[in-house]
Amino acid sequence: MVALGGLGEIGRNMTVFEHAGRLLIVDCGVLFPEEHQPGVDVILPDFTSIRDRLDDVEAIVLTHGHEDHIGGVPYLLRERPDIPLVGSKLTLAFIDAKLKEHRIRPVKVEVSEGDELAFGPFDCEFVAVNHSIPDSLAVAIRTAAGLVLHTGDFKMDQFPLDGRITDLRAFARLGEEGVDLFLTDSTNAEVPGFTTSEGELVPAIETVFRTAPRRVIVSSFASHVHRIQQILDVAHAHGRKVAFVGRSMVRNMGIAQELGYLTVPPGLLVDMKALEKLPADRVCLVCTGSQGEPMAALSRMANRDHVIRITEGDTVLLASSLIPGNENAVYRVINELTRWGANVVHKGNAKVHVSGHASAGELAYCYNVVRPRNVLPVHGEWRHLKANADIAVRTGVHPRGVVIAEDGVVVDLVDGRVRITGKVPAGNVYVDGMTVGGATEAHLRDRRTLANEGVISVVAIVDADTGLLAEEPDFLARGFVHDEATFEDVVPLIEKALAKAAEEGVGGAVQLEQLIARAVGTWANKTYRRSPMIIPIVVDA
Ligand SMILES: [Zn+2]
Ligand SMILES: [Zn+2]
Repeated sequence: MVALGGLGEIGRNMTVFEHAGRLLIVDCGVLFPEEHQPGVDVILPDFTSIRDRLDDVEAIVLTHGHEDHIGGVPYLLRERPDIPLVGSKLTLAFIDAKLKEHRIRPVKVEVSEGDELAFGPFDCEFVAVNHSIPDSLAVAIRTAAGLVLHTGDFKMDQFPLDGRITDLRAFARLGEEGVDLFLTDSTNAEVPGFTTSEGELVPAIETVFRTAPRRVIVSSFASHVHRIQQILDVAHAHGRKVAFVGRSMVRNMGIAQELGYLTVPPGLLVDMKALEKLPADRVCLVCTGSQGEPMAALSRMANRDHVIRITEGDTVLLASSLIPGNENAVYRVINELTRWGANVVHKGNAKVHVSGHASAGELAYCYNVVRPRNVLPVHGEWRHLKANADIAVRTGVHPRGVVIAEDGVVVDLVDGRVRITGKVPAGNVYVDGMTVGGATEAHLRDRRTLANEGVISVVAIVDADTGLLAEEPDFLARGFVHDEATFEDVVPLIEKALAKAAEEGVGGAVQLEQLIARAVGTWANKTYRRSPMIIPIVVDA
């Protein structure tokens, strides 16, 4: 097996299992870019190593409907549209809605906990797990090489809203049978103890609704059906009406309601028009944008770029986690909302969020229940993988059987033993506007240079016979502090470089452009301690 994403990072989860020449993929997600990746929309796993083998793929098993597990599916199906998608009812409904936007009609295989189904040589059994989205599944994969259990994302909330707990009895039964390789969610492996139950958020949410003098605006993930269920219930109890705001929120909650995962008290939901007619203390808006995403409803409200105007006395509730890397964006949004007069309640000042992932205590329980031969921590940055590996070892898994691997590392399972046997490409593939995989690290480096240092372009008209300047070069600068006189000093340096080149018989536009770039670059560095991007253009006179 090889993970093409999700190991050494939180996002773009994708694991490829191979047996008897056939492939089974578990999850195919996206990773959201950080500030050092300007312009990038999302980051995909690198499909290079399976691109020539797409016909060998039996199916894609989707453990749940989060973007970091399903977001890459449209891009993989573009390459082979008829790979069967296997998942629970809600997961398939979420991916279906997404694929509609890409005009792809997938082959779907709906499964639920307890189902056993073979895809080529892979006998799959699906196990209920509890997570921050309903209908999540772990998958057990039996082949002649052994039994693999992949938890997907999970936690062990014993009192979840829908009563659907992680099926430890199934974990135990599989453990009895003998789990050769156990892949477990590392996200919260560093967090001691147990993740608190979703239901324990009620008092804090109650307080918000009880004390809010005017509107309550709640922002959450558009997939967190249970969190939004709690919001709806509390809003209803306090006599408020609710409207969903934001495309993905409206779409997903429509799906969840239609499929029976979200129960809406009659008359609670209204549209924006009806909501505007109500007094402010009877209004609740539920919107997207809890991660400070610039295009989402909440950020646009903060920027005064949304029909909903934040006013004095509004209460904004961020009922969500803060994904590492999004801190700056989220605090910016909180600051702006506060500036407009809102009281912002978030996980930093009230108990309005619990994680969707198992903490260290839950992981230890799982290892003790399953007693796996080998363990591969997944879903986490290196520190999370390491913490998870340490827990496995503490519960008695032989250290040789605990493998910390990064994306692209090929792990073989032979006779109950795991071994690292190779490496395949697993770099970042950037979706950048309309291009997929076109933007490279070099492009991002250029963008960072432009952002940090600015750009100077030099147009030099060079006499073809002498190789010297035919007239004063033209300078154009952006993002580089300059005035009329700034570039006067650099002209002699360009003249000197060209004279030297002419003397040595160096010619040709490309070579001369390089010389000019070097001369201007050295000058900018020496004079201004800056390294702007330099774009030289040599024109023959
Ligand atoms: Zn998840
Ligand atoms: Zn995840």
